Order: sequence, then C-alpha cells, then structure tokens
Amino acid sequence: MPPSFDLWDTPIKELSSIGPKRADIFAQELHIHTFRELLYYYPFRYDDRSTVTPLSNLTASDLPILTVGTITSKQRAGDGKAGRLVIQVVDGPASLELVFFSGARFYDSVLKVGVRYLIYGKPTAFNYKLSMAHPEVEPISLSNPNAGLGFYPVYGITEKMRRMRLDSRVIAAGIRQIIDFAGTHITDIFSEDERNRNQLLARRLSLEAVHFPTSMGLAQQAIQTQKFEELYLLQIQLLSSKTSLVSQVNGIIPTSGALVSEFMQGVLPFILTGAQQDVLAEIYADMAGPTPMNRLLQGDVGSGKTVVAFISMLYIIDSGFQVCLLAPTEVLAEQHLASLEPWCAAIGVTIRKLSGSSSKKERKIIDEGLTSGTLSILVGTHAIIEDNVAFRSLGLCVIDEQHRFGVHQRAAVRSKSIMSAAHLLLMTATPIPRTLGLTLYGDLDISTIKQMPAGRRPIKTIHRYGRDREKIYAFIQSEIERGRQAYIVYPLIEASEKLNLKDLQEGFEAVKRNFPHQEVAMVHGRLKWQDKNAQMQTFKDQKAQILVATTVIEVGINIPNASVMVIENAERFGLAQLHQLRGRVGRGNDQSYCILLTSDLLGQDSKERIKAMVESTDGFYLAEVDMRLRGSGNLMGTQQSGLLRFMIADLATDADLLVQARKEAETTIADPHNTKKIAKLHVLCQKLNRFQNQYLRIG
Ligand code: ADP
Ligand code: MG
Repeated sequence: MPPSFDLWDTPIKELSSIGPKRADIFAQELHIHTFRELLYYYPFRYDDRSTVTPLSNLTASDLPILTVGTITSKQRAGDGKAGRLVIQVVDGPASLELVFFSGARFYDSVLKVGVRYLIYGKPTAFNYKLSMAHPEVEPISLSNPNAGLGFYPVYGITEKMRRMRLDSRVIAAGIRQIIDFAGTHITDIFSEDERNRNQLLARRLSLEAVHFPTSMGLAQQAIQTQKFEELYLLQIQLLSSKTSLVSQVNGIIPTSGALVSEFMQGVLPFILTGAQQDVLAEIYADMAGPTPMNRLLQGDVGSGKTVVAFISMLYIIDSGFQVCLLAPTEVLAEQHLASLEPWCAAIGVTIRKLSGSSSKKERKIIDEGLTSGTLSILVGTHAIIEDNVAFRSLGLCVIDEQHRFGVHQRAAVRSKSIMSAAHLLLMTATPIPRTLGLTLYGDLDISTIKQMPAGRRPIKTIHRYGRDREKIYAFIQSEIERGRQAYIVYPLIEASEKLNLKDLQEGFEAVKRNFPHQEVAMVHGRLKWQDKNAQMQTFKDQKAQILVATTVIEVGINIPNASVMVIENAERFGLAQLHQLRGRVGRGNDQSYCILLTSDLLGQDSKERIKAMVESTDGFYLAEVDMRLRGSGNLMGTQQSGLLRFMIADLATDADLLVQARKEAETTIADPHNTKKIAKLHVLCQKLNRFQNQYLRIG
C-alpha cells in the first residue's frame, strides 16, 4: 500500500457488487471510478416503498405501488425473442397479472410458484383485470418480514446502462457496500458548533441517509447537509484563492509599448469605445499590481470584449511572455483564431490553435513553439489547462464565455501549476445580479463594458405566431435579396434531444423547400466539430444564406452580415438564452431583426418573457426580469448555461444556503488555526472537482 493511500480513492471494481466489468461501464458512462465518486453520486429522487397496499385495495395508477402476493402460476407465451412471461399472483380473493416482455427466461428461472413476493410497479387495468408490466419483484423473507420496505434511491443512468441492467439497484448496492465497509472512516468536515449553527447532520449519517433515508424527513435533512457541504467547499476554494494570491509571487509585469501602439495605430480597424478604454486601464493597472490579476470582464453580447482581450494579451507578449485564450467549444476557438490571426500577422505575433483534433505534427510544432517561447498565443478549449500543457512562461490566461465553464472548473483553474504567476482574465456576456455575483465571483474583481460600439442600430425584436411563418419567410427572402443572411434556431431540450433533432431535421427540410434558390446550412450539437465548422464556414463565406441551427450557435459566433434571427418555439427558451441568441445579429451596421415565433397559446410567464424581449435589449435589465419571473437563483437559464450547475445544490432554491455557506467559509478562512483543515479541504475539493467537472459536462 503506498504511503499516500486514501481509502476513498479505492477503485469501485473492488466492490463485489460491481466488479471490473461493471466498473468500466461506470467509468465510461458516469465518470465514476472511486469509492468517493460513487458515494457522491446522489440520487435524484426516492421511490416510496415504505407502505404496502394490499392486493385487494389495488387500483390502476400512474405511480408505482408496492403490493404483496403469492405466485400461483407462470406461463410463457409466444416464442423466441418475442416470447413473454405471464405470471399470476393472488392474495386472498384478489389477483394480479405480472407480464415480462423481455428477460422472460431469466424471470422464469428466478420467480417461483408458491412463494410470496413484494411487488413494485404501475398497475394498469385491462378487461377488469389488473396487470403490471416489468414490476420489481422480491421474495419476502420470513425471518425479516419488513426487509425490502423503505425508501429506494433512484439514480440517473444512461441508456447503455439501462440496457445492461446496470440500474439504481446496482448503484445502491455498491454504495451500501461502501458504507458498510468504510462508513466508520467517514470523518466530519464540520465541528459540532458549525453543525449546530447550520443545522447539519453528522457527515457519516448524512452521506448514508442521502442514499438510504429511513424517512422523508431524514432525507430532507441529509440533502440540506450535502448541499451545504458542496456550497461550503466551493466557497473555501474561491475565498482561499483570493487570500492566497496576496502572499503569492508577483504577476507578470505588462508593457504598454511598441507592440500595442503598432496594433492600435496601424491595425485596429475601429476606435475603441470609452468603455473599452476604461476597462483596459483597469486591466493594465491590475497586471501592474503586486499580485496576479483575477478579473472578470462582463459585457453584453456584441460589446467588443474580444479586442479588449487581445490588447491585454499584447501587454503581456510585449513583456516577453506567452498567453492562452480558452473558449468553451471548438467552434468558438476556431472563430477566435480566425479573427485574431490577421491582427497577429500584421504585427508579427505568432498564434496557433490546439484542439483534440490537432494532428501529431501540428501538436509537435505547438509544443516546440511553447517550450522555446517562439509561440506567443495559444488558442484552444479548456483542455489546454487541464492537460497542463507546457508553456515556457505563461503570463496570461483568458477564458472566454466563462459562464459556460462550471464554477467548479473555474475554481480549479487557479490551482494549476502553470497558473502560478499568470494573470487570469475571465469574460462573460451573462450578467448576474449583484448579490449572487458577490457570492459566486467573490474571488474576482469585476469590470463591466456598459457601452456598445458606435453606429450599432438597435435590433428590432418582433413577436409572431407560427401561423405567420409564410410572411416571415417572405421577409427573410427580401433580406437575402438585399445581400443579408438569416439564422433560424430551433430549441433543443436536453432530456429529449432525439425528438428535437427530428424537429430540426424537419425544419431544415421545410426551409429548403421554401427557399429553393438558396443554400441552407445546418449545425447542431451532434455533428462532429469539423462538420460543424464546415457548415459554419459556408455560412460565414456567404455561400449559404440561411443557417438552420440549435443553440450551438448561441455563444460568441460573430457574422456581421447576418441580419435576421428567427427563433422557433421561442417560448421554450429562457430569457438569457433568447438574449444571447439575439446577440448573434446586430453586429454590423445594418438594421437587424430578431423574430420570436411562438405557439398561439402562451402561459403567463412566457408572455412576460417575450414581452420583455420585445421591449428591451439590455442584458442586465433582462436578467432582473428573469429573476423576478423565476425567483432568485434560477437565473439566466442557468441549466443551459452551466454557470451554476452543482451536483446537489440548486441555486433556484438554495440561494439562502449559499449565503450561509459563504459566511461559514469566511469564518473558517479567517481563523489562522485552520491552515491544516483548509489544506485538507482543498485536497477533497480537488478530488471532487475532477468528478464534478467531468460529470457535469456530459449532463
Ligand atoms: P463580444 O463582446 O460579444 O465578444 P465581440 O468582441 O465579438 O463582442 O465584438 C463584436 C463586434 O464588434 C466584432 O465584429 C468587433 O470587431 C466589433 N467591435 C468591437 N469593438 C468595436 C468598436 N470599438 N467599434 C466598432 N466595432 C467594434
Ligand atoms: Mg465574444
């Protein structure tokens, strides 16, 4: 056993209920590898199997019900793959039929005539007879008749796991084993005082009860405790990255010399707005200060954050250091490269893009450039930081559209070795209200670009119903004839991506039929990024006049010639997302239009959202409307944006808990006796972050 052995790092393949084969699936599908990760894989609800409904009281129900009965006969019907198993169950005069369409042979072999079973499923009525398809069935133990009664955790599983019968039961069995085997080694994070102050359960009880509650009341307490723990750990990371910076090395000193003036005077195609200049002054002062910069740059879509980032990079490059620019997607990274390359070429700065699809040869050139220092700007996705790519001297890391990276991910960036003396500039177009901002961005200084570049005409936003589609197509046609281009966006809801791809495909066909003389491009999240890129490029090169898309185009895409944004089923989007989408047009000097297409019948909330969109183009105002409509916390379509996603906490409902956790974390950090404790917490954070980041990314 290595000296640094940590019980909680034990691979789950060691569990007899899981084993090596299933462990591989857990790793592939859920990014769960260790005891710790399995233990922190929370159920999303509980099945109430605490009370038995007697068979004689059973009626058809949409909810699963627990009942009990004895098997009196079994019958195989049909044959081969189509074969099913029909089982008769009785209890006194009452009877029930159980039907298994798949796994008939398996169930036939394990379920025995004459034995009493607990049966859990949805009863349906057919010809005055009750039946259940694929119930869960468990023999009743005579010695312990209450076994099997209780609350059962239900966990998220993937389609593949379902097919392999790797379901909630298996997950629960694994967790049960961990708790039985190692439960006594679960140590508390919070002292008794802290627990009392915040009404928390002891950690061991809480971690057990969150999976296996004996009552719903206890489940609630356990959930609260785990939420608090998650928010507290996050705050510990955020707050200590702020305080530890003070004692850290100096950041790289910027230079506002030849390179910057060469760019500003000879290359920059426009004049910086006052707001851009102010923000640059803040950034420069920050960089010249005693500690590395830790700044968030907020600015509405189209406010011109990219050029601010570029000039900030030049300050550092001019001092002889390297910089990196991270984007949330390959498409955006590619776009950044495309827009920065000509600027770089004009002033003799080297820039390259690194991505998962970079060839070996390309990768070698990049590695050489980075270690020798001849490569100044590296553009890419978050992978750059995660791999700890070797820079000769990284001076600045810019993270664009930071809200797309989880808050845990951001907290993790600072802990990377290559970030020790590097400045960090985060950029976001998603405004968040101040109280939340303080709590989530409390480790950052914030700059805001409040002014749009001159000459922009406000986008005209129009609400139309589906039945007006013909007229809208005619309008798009007239814009195309004027040389403009149009986006048509379809909603994509995570849970039913398949269904929506069908919508998208149908929409695409319909658009093509209606515009027989135009080229129509299409992008969606399921495309390989090269294909996505190729489609985007056709649109960018104006070889296609219409781009049909899902929200993959939401963030950062910059095509000034596009003047129309049609959003189908606009009522299905959150305000922030609508605002982001709208920001894809209005980037040139022409009048642009955003057309919100909705169904005829709208709920009150949808009506207000659409109305706000039509009335205002101010992202901060819209964020406030969103907060009013959806309650504090569930802001700006956070579900979609990933900004505030957690394993168990939910800012839609837990904003108060967040404030409380923040306070507790502040107290912890302020106490000099806590250095050891904090160091320990950081190790825990790191290990959990890795899991959370992986897991939340696929979610
Ligand atoms: P965002 O803040 O949404 O990332 P971008 O940086 O992509 O915005 O800028 C949007 C567009 O505005 C780009 O085409 C950019 O070149 C242009 N732009 C930026 N600053 C100015 C300015 N001061 N004057 C005119 N156009 C500008
Ligand atoms: Mg941008």
